[in-house]
Amino acid sequence: MQSELSKSVQYLKSIGPKRAESFSKIGINTIQDLLYYFPSKYLDRTNILSSIRIVQYVVDGYVGEVTILGKVVDTETHYYNKKQIFKVRMKDATGFFECVWFQGAKFFKDLFHEGDYFAVSAKPVITKYGHLQFAHPDFDRLVEAESKEFLNTGKIIPFYRLPKQLKETNIGDFSLRRIISSAVELYSGKIEETLPKNILNEHALSGLNDTIHSLHSPNNFDELSKARHRMKFEEIFYFECMVALRKKLFATKSVGLSFKTKSAPLKQFLSSLPFELTASQLKVLSEIRKDLESSSPMNRLLQGDVGSGKTIVALISIIIAVTNGYQCAFMAPTEILADQHFKRISKMLEPLGFKTEILIGGQKKSERDVILANIASGKINLVIGTHALIEENVKFKSLGMVVIDEQHRFGVLQRSQLSKKGTIPNVLVMTATPIPRTLSMTLYGDLDVSTIDEMPKNRKPIKTILRGENKLPAIFDFVKKKASEGYQSFIVYPLVEESEKLELKAAVKHFEELQNEHLKELRVALIHGRMKWQEKENIMNEFAAGKFDVLVSTTVIEVGIDIPNANIIIINDAHRFGLSQLHQLRGRVGRGNQQAYCILVTKDEWAARSSQFNFTEEFFSPAQIEKNKASIRLNAMVKTNNGFELSEIDFKLRGPGNIFGTEQSGLPEFKHINIVEDVQLIQQAKDCAFGIINSDPDLIRENNLVVKNTLKEKYSSKVLLSHIA
Ligand code: ADP
Ligand code: MG
Repeated sequence: MQSELSKSVQYLKSIGPKRAESFSKIGINTIQDLLYYFPSKYLDRTNILSSIRIVQYVVDGYVGEVTILGKVVDTETHYYNKKQIFKVRMKDATGFFECVWFQGAKFFKDLFHEGDYFAVSAKPVITKYGHLQFAHPDFDRLVEAESKEFLNTGKIIPFYRLPKQLKETNIGDFSLRRIISSAVELYSGKIEETLPKNILNEHALSGLNDTIHSLHSPNNFDELSKARHRMKFEEIFYFECMVALRKKLFATKSVGLSFKTKSAPLKQFLSSLPFELTASQLKVLSEIRKDLESSSPMNRLLQGDVGSGKTIVALISIIIAVTNGYQCAFMAPTEILADQHFKRISKMLEPLGFKTEILIGGQKKSERDVILANIASGKINLVIGTHALIEENVKFKSLGMVVIDEQHRFGVLQRSQLSKKGTIPNVLVMTATPIPRTLSMTLYGDLDVSTIDEMPKNRKPIKTILRGENKLPAIFDFVKKKASEGYQSFIVYPLVEESEKLELKAAVKHFEELQNEHLKELRVALIHGRMKWQEKENIMNEFAAGKFDVLVSTTVIEVGIDIPNANIIIINDAHRFGLSQLHQLRGRVGRGNQQAYCILVTKDEWAARSSQFNFTEEFFSPAQIEKNKASIRLNAMVKTNNGFELSEIDFKLRGPGNIFGTEQSGLPEFKHINIVEDVQLIQQAKDCAFGIINSDPDLIRENNLVVKNTLKEKYSSKVLLSHIA
């Protein structure tokens, strides 16, 4: 790294050793680090409205969020129903307005002082006293000079997140802006370019110096968006370089296991099934078989809607591996699911002489030790389990194949940890398509993708209906009537309470009401997230054996569970669930050949409103989405059973940030890229990265040296760079 930029921030104006230490706590050690601490948002004049304008908007019926700049006039705290309410009165050049907090008065009181300037953002309302009001707004403090300059020159003001570690050494919003801005003026010109010149030219990207400068202090929004574009490109470019390198590494340097398909055991297995495989399953199987027979290791993503029959495909792959003398591991995201897979699969594979075991968290130590020993000695052919499988003490004699079910529930790391337990095992990951096809192809570029796009023939499409809560009595009658015909039902309640205890109480209350009142003629059982897995397992087993008519649950049944005789699912407060979760839940029924029903229950007015929607393009305009998210989801569920379609809709609905923000997605967190909006850019950067890695895998061409260096400096921890070292 360049020497000047690698100096400690301590040497910057107004940062001494103390403050340097607080910066270090948030991961900023060098001047370079500080230059890469970008604003989290910007204030510009085009965003700002005057109070008089906002009042007009509200009167006209506009309800979106607005930003206003004002000066604090006074503050007041009063009590209402024993609760403290905190109010700040402010003014701008055209009038007065107020901000109000119904919670956390104590905290906010210390932040607002008479004469302070703030930029405030929220949805405006007009109170019954005719005041323009913002409840629980976002706010950013400005100093007077900034505020004046801002209003006069229209300069864009950057806002940085101010972590508490910095506050502790008396760094405020304003001083942080000053510190960074002076560092940017002095040092941004010294940053070395991280993209090849020819790529900058080809894609009309701005240079890194200018980019960093613009991100911190843009002269206008064009400049800012150019700078952002360049950062996005760089981010995805290097991500795709790593994908490409990984792919190359697997393909060229490593020789995997090459299996031979023995037809006798496969025939025996297939003839034991009560159904024929679908054409789609067969197609996918032949793709997998080719992978297994070739000597390069398999890295395949198997996509298929809920209920499309992925498990059988995995089993056949497992049979191929085991008959070649190798062990297999099958990882599922929950204990219930692992247990269910274990019961079914062990029974199905027993006639072939396979020994299957289960490994999950709650097992007794003595029991566990025996299993571990048998895995290590090779006695066990297939072990099914949860992430307990990736613990260090699990050692295989010869792991040749890894299957990961519902892979979107696992992180990338967990995935690779499991496959590390074999030399170079074949990996099959399965998912019920949480993200649209085009995107998965781009982002999981190192995985080959197989898709089951056909449902087994005996299936009748699930009938999905949306009902208001006022229809619950009729719904219960329906459950009773169907129970007399031998149908079983799931009744699901969402997780609403934040505390597990309250959660449990709510579930128990619903259960008792059903058992004692609404469904007292029926046999009702309860299952919830706080139960030990053995308890859950017992109840699931009894339910599967027909000992209950109705299973009341919190969302623990969500993933993968397969009980063919349960054909009604009632989802309460359905508006609280995400679309993919609703679809997963619905997938719990409709697995046999009876007609299945999914009844979505929601507030009466939601139910009435939702059914009016049509899926036209304007329906997905930002304003519409904001207002109608829940209705769109509910309506989408009624309109289609197709998981691909639903994932596209879901994708449009979810804003950036919260879509793959969680670890569950298995995707890295991107700082700059928005994978919803930047699809085209992602494709360009991907083509560019793959082009370079494929034509110059050792990165020795003059132009590409910068790529090699940047990978080594910034990404070495994330990629196996040994072969280009
Ligand atoms: P998912 O893809 O959601 O994991 P499963 O593998 O659990 O689905 O399969 C759902 C159900 O469909 C299981 O009961 C399975 O036995 C059954 N099934 C699988 N393939 C077929 C088929 N070709 N014809 C009929 N039923 C099938
Ligand atoms: Mg499954």
